[in-house]
Amino acid sequence: MPEVLSKLTEFRAGITAIDADYVRPRLAASHLVVDGGRAAFVDTGTALSVPNLLAALAAKDIDPADVDWVLATHVHLDHAGGAGALMQHLPNARCAVHPRGARHLAEPSKLIAGSITVYGEERYRALYGEIVPIPESRMFVPEDGARVMLGSREFELIHTPGHALHHYCIVDQAHALIFSGDTFGISYRDFDVDGRAFIMPTTTPVHFDPEALCDSVDRLMSYHPQAIYLTHYAEVRDLQRLAAEMKERVRAFAELGRRYASAPDRASKLRHGMFAQLGGWLDAHGFPRDDAERHRLLDDDVELNCQGIEVWLDRK
Ligand SMILES: [Zn+2]
Repeated sequence: MPEVLSKLTEFRAGITAIDADYVRPRLAASHLVVDGGRAAFVDTGTALSVPNLLAALAAKDIDPADVDWVLATHVHLDHAGGAGALMQHLPNARCAVHPRGARHLAEPSKLIAGSITVYGEERYRALYGEIVPIPESRMFVPEDGARVMLGSREFELIHTPGHALHHYCIVDQAHALIFSGDTFGISYRDFDVDGRAFIMPTTTPVHFDPEALCDSVDRLMSYHPQAIYLTHYAEVRDLQRLAAEMKERVRAFAELGRRYASAPDRASKLRHGMFAQLGGWLDAHGFPRDDAERHRLLDDDVELNCQGIEVWLDRK
C-alpha cells in the first residue's frame, strides 16, 4: 500500500482530505475534489506538503493535467504556501486567489517577511520551505459571488472577512457543502469526544475582526450546508451547534482582549486567559483533563490567536 493512503480520508461527493503534514498529523488538510474526471485542490498546505498532494493524485489515478483549479482560500502560508510549487506540476490549472491576496502570491516577499515576524526565522524555514511565485496569467481573481465550474459542478466563491481580509469560502450548493478555510474556525479531530466535534476560532494576525467574523459565519450558515470542510481539519457536521459555539467563542476571545487591553503584562495575561478559557470549554465538551496533552494540542494556536488579538487591540 503506498504510504500516502494513510494520509487520505475519503468523504462523500468526490472529496478527499489529504494530510498536509504541517506541524503534526491531522493539523492541516488540503482537500481534493473530483468531478467528471476533473479535479481541484482546496488549499495546498505548504511547499513541503506538495509531495503528499501529488502522491494523492497518483494514488487516485488522476493525471496532473486533469487538475483545473487550485483554490487558495486565503494567502496564509499553511493554506497557500504550497500553491506556487504545486502549480508547477499542474499544466492546466488556474489558481483562484482573493483580490486582496493575489499580489502576495505573485510576489511573495511581503508574505514571507510577515510570516518570519510571526514565527521567527528558524521556525519559518523549517515549516514552509521555499515559496514559489505564481504568474498572474495563471491566476483567477474572484469578485464576491464569482462562480467557477469543476466538471459538472458549480462552486460559488464568497468573500468572508473576519479571519483575514483576503479570505474567500467555496460554496457547493448542489451538494450542500462548503469549504471554509479558516472562517469557520478550527476543529482538530484530536478533540472529538464520542464523535462530537470541538470548535474554536482562529484569530491569527493581522486582520482579525470579531464582528466581521461572526457575520461571515452567519453568511456561511445562510446557505444551509449539511457539511463544512475545514482546513484544520476536514469534515464537520452538527453545524447549528458549531456555528453558535464558534460565534460565542469569537466574542469571548474579543472580550478577553478588551479585559486586558491596557494591562502592563497584557501578553502573558492574554495567553493564560485564553488557555484557561479553552480548558473550560474542553471540560464542558468532556475532553480528558490532561494538561500536558492540552498544551501539546493548543499552545501554537493560543500563541497565534493572542498575537492576532493584540494586533486587533492596537488597531482599534
Ligand atoms: Zn489563516
